[in-house]
Amino acid sequence: MSASFYQRCRAELQRYEAEKAFPEGYTGLNKEIMEIQESAREQLGPTLRLSEAALNNLKEGQIALTGQSVPIPVSVFRPAALKLAAAFSRVAGQPFPVEKIFALPGSSSDDWHTLAEDLLAGRLDLAELAEGSGYNAETIAYFLHSLLVPFYEHQSEPYRQMLMDKEIAWNRGFCPVCGSPARYGVYYGEKGFRKLYCGLCRTEWPFPRHMCPHCENPEMASIRSFTIGGDQAHAAEVCDHCQSYLKATDERQLRRECIAAVEDLATPGIDLTAAGQGLSRPA
Ligand SMILES: [Zn+2]
Ligand SMILES: [Zn+2]
Repeated sequence: MSASFYQRCRAELQRYEAEKAFPEGYTGLNKEIMEIQESAREQLGPTLRLSEAALNNLKEGQIALTGQSVPIPVSVFRPAALKLAAAFSRVAGQPFPVEKIFALPGSSSDDWHTLAEDLLAGRLDLAELAEGSGYNAETIAYFLHSLLVPFYEHQSEPYRQMLMDKEIAWNRGFCPVCGSPARYGVYYGEKGFRKLYCGLCRTEWPFPRHMCPHCENPEMASIRSFTIGGDQAHAAEVCDHCQSYLKATDERQLRRECIAAVEDLATPGIDLTAAGQGLSRPA
């Protein structure tokens, strides 16, 4: 399942590459990131079984991974980090400070779950990691996030279908499995229902159309949207209540099924416009 997912991602990204102009090196790096993620995901083995504890968490309205650490075996983590660092170094033309990441507390163990937990809880000093490297804190965060995806997607696989099928009710704006903020929105099916996508564990879940996933404000009057360059299939949905935005694809306009991970990569222009309006994107 995951192999075909990554294959589809590459094909979709190639399609956008032929249609649009991206910054130099942009799609090449992202394709390489996907290859590294795919390889790490394969090394983690087959889809896990459902965990009763995780199901109970969801039934009680808590995220599935509450009380659990996501295993990050160093045997998979370290080679993936080195490959990713090489890709970043090549594109940026300067060495990525991966050794500083390896020197963080937690490196002495066989499992790096503390790194992920510290990053997600905002306890990692990204500015310190970036210092003197020529990379900024945002790029360091993007690196770490990209590196953690395969470990989290492995954990979320058993729950994805039941969430989309609404076998488990979840009407929050953050990810039901890992708790990350929604990364992207997709309007799907004939009626254009909305689902949200988690960029860390790749879970998707249905969510009401006119509610901000960030502040969960249901007042339609404070939600607006904008598109750019005449492209009606991709929009930013802006919440004037909390000044955040969520990018979204309308599959009815796109006239095909999309992959949220690729839609996100294919729409950097919307992020630029939103940043120019002083809007933030929860991460
Ligand atoms: Zn998630
Ligand atoms: Zn809001």
